[in-house]
Amino acid sequence: MCRHLAYLGPPVTLAELLFEPPHSLVRQSWAPRDMRGGGTINADGFGVGWYPGEGEGEPVRYRRAQPIWSDPTIAQLAAVTRSAAVVAAVRSATVGMAVLDGAAAPFAEGRWLFSHNGVVRGWPDAVVPLAAGLPVRDLLTLDATTDSALLWALVRHRLRTGADPVEAVGRTVTDVAAAAPGSRLNLLLTDGHRVVASVAGHALSVRETPGSVLLASEPHDDDPGWRSVPEGHLVVATAGEVRVRPLPTPVSRAG
Ligand code: GLN
Repeated sequence: MCRHLAYLGPPVTLAELLFEPPHSLVRQSWAPRDMRGGGTINADGFGVGWYPGEGEGEPVRYRRAQPIWSDPTIAQLAAVTRSAAVVAAVRSATVGMAVLDGAAAPFAEGRWLFSHNGVVRGWPDAVVPLAAGLPVRDLLTLDATTDSALLWALVRHRLRTGADPVEAVGRTVTDVAAAAPGSRLNLLLTDGHRVVASVAGHALSVRETPGSVLLASEPHDDDPGWRSVPEGHLVVATAGEVRVRPLPTPVSRAG
């Protein structure tokens, strides 16, 4: 299943995050170490979202429905693009789900960037009752007919209706886990200043240095500073502080 990462800290090139580490996201696209629930490589697309300049504006995205290693443009872009806040993902499409640019994370609106690593079990029937609570317009304008795009619509609806990001992610995970038991729901949401990430069915590691934080499905090097986040938890991180707390209610075991 997909691999994703989020970085907050002093500006770095995208290449420093995506290409240069020994177990970089690009390497994880063809040689991931910890795939669960089906899939062996992450070749069905990729996406990068970054906040340009001083990080005050809306993020820029580049998404493609092809393996990240086969796109010469991302390598060139990554070498010259610097940012203080980045989300990136490589995708292994769940069987039966569309392979399109729009199905690759990060999903976005305004300052928000969102990614999902996992699968909604019983898709789509299991989550029809949750989808029914969304405005029809949101359903008609999903980026793709995938579980991840619907999860983004659910999180976004909570944000639009006043939830804070920790609540929006936490409650979406617990609602979907209840409606679709056995789902894998590692979500990642940022506004460029703070990241909220759930650990529910997949691995997630965090590396803090003074003034920066990096969250990633797999550590990208053997730095002893990487910490694995326990299952059933939420990470709330800024460049200066990382907090880990239990999800609002226990999530059923992933299948
Ligand atoms: N199920 C999602 C999709 O197909 C995410 C896949 C993943 O984590 N591999 O897009």
